[in-house]
Formats: sequence, structure tokens, C-alpha cells
Amino acid sequence: MLYVVATPIGNLNDITFRAVEILKEVDFIVCEDTRITSRLLQKLGIKKELLTLNARNEESRIKLILNKILSGHKCALVSDAGTPCISDPGVRLINASHKNNITVSSVPGPNAAIAALSIAGIPTDSFLFEGFLPQKKGRQKLLKELSLTDKTIILYESTYRIEKLLNELNEFMQDRFVVICRELTKMYEEIVRGYPPELVKGLADMNLKGEFVVCIAPVSWQQL
Ligand code: SAM
Repeated sequence: MLYVVATPIGNLNDITFRAVEILKEVDFIVCEDTRITSRLLQKLGIKKELLTLNARNEESRIKLILNKILSGHKCALVSDAGTPCISDPGVRLINASHKNNITVSSVPGPNAAIAALSIAGIPTDSFLFEGFLPQKKGRQKLLKELSLTDKTIILYESTYRIEKLLNELNEFMQDRFVVICRELTKMYEEIVRGYPPELVKGLADMNLKGEFVVCIAPVSWQQL
């Protein structure tokens, strides 16, 4: 059995009852970074064997994890924050588990993209989740393509590139209403809404620290 367990994106109280139950029940936990998951488990009073899974060790780790599960050990997959496999590692492990007839079960919970969309106040009936844009190659081409999409677009961005992203939105998507969600569920949670020209003008006064989800309204939707 492989459980895919969502963990908080900031506020520890967002862990679900079921997530705690499953993390207590499993024999081992697969995580991105043992330091981060140990901290979470310590706060929950849980002690478990941890195995890392990341881009560097994926190939060999998947074999080891599958062998453990196939020999009867229950496993939970978590990421550093939010829902595993959403801009986080795990997809190859889950695919391999299905191929080996291992039951994969969802323990849903926090996800930054959906949390942001739910408070953005822009259309939610159809949206495109792009996650992180490529840092260099293909970034501008993708932004141009996205500018033509008449759907809400959801992007993840880090503190290091948020200013660059807002300048790019001002270049490629001037007419699209943008909602910037910063530090969701944390002490300094903040929402800033506006069209790119006004957002760029306000950059000097904006707090650019922390984690960001940027929601971009469809071309055809105008904030009155
Ligand atoms: N798997 C995670 C999820 O379910 O949302 C996303 C992991 S991805 C590596 C991390 C990115 O998600 C951050 O750079 C940021 O863009 C977004 N993010 C995560 N937590 C956030 C938060 N509390 N507030 C705003 N954005 C957040």
C-alpha cells in the first residue's frame, strides 16, 4: 500500500486527522528532505523510518521502495509542503507502483495552487496550472503562448524571481488581471491584486519575501 499524503503549506494546523492517522500507521515514509519531514513528525509526536526521494536518487530509490512495499511494508509519500507530485517529486514512484499492482491511495489536503485560486476572486471554472516557469530557456516563448490562453493561469514563483515575473507579465500580459498570493496560511499571508502596470509601479512598496502563487485572469475577463 502506498499512501500519498498532503502536508501543510505553512500552518501546521492544516494537517488533516487522516494524514496524522496514516503517518502513524505506515511502516516507513518517503520524503524529499528528512530534516523538514522530521520536524513535522516531531511536532506530531510520530517516529518513523524516513527514506528520501528526489531527482538525484530517484532511479535507485524507486527499486528499494517498491521492494519494501511488495514485501508487505506500508508506505506514505510526503513532500516538503503541500500535495506530493504537484511541482514536487513522486510521479515516477507512483507510476511504478501502479505498474507493480501496488494500491495507491490519496490522503488529500493542502495545495498552494488551489488555496490561491479559492481566494483570488477570478474565474475558477477552467484553469491552467503551469507551476514554475522555466528559469531561462523557453521562458519568454512560454509566456507569449500563455498570453493567448483564455483561461485563468496559475503559476508558482519563488522570492528570487517574483520581481522578474511581474515585469514579464507587464511586458506580455498587460491587460490581464493578476492576483499575487504570498505566504498562504502563514503569519504574513497577503493578497495583492491588480493589472501588471500598477503592480510594477507598486513594486518598491511590495514585500517580495516568501513563497508566491500568481493567478492570472482570462484575457476576456476584466475587473471593473
Ligand atoms: N506541492 C506543493 C503544493 O501542493 O502546493 C508545491 C511545491 S513547490 C516546490 C513550492 C512552491 O509552491 C513555492 O515556490 C510557491 O510558489 C508555492 N507555495 C508553497 N507554499 C506556499 C505558500 N504557503 N504560499 C504561497 N505559495 C506557496
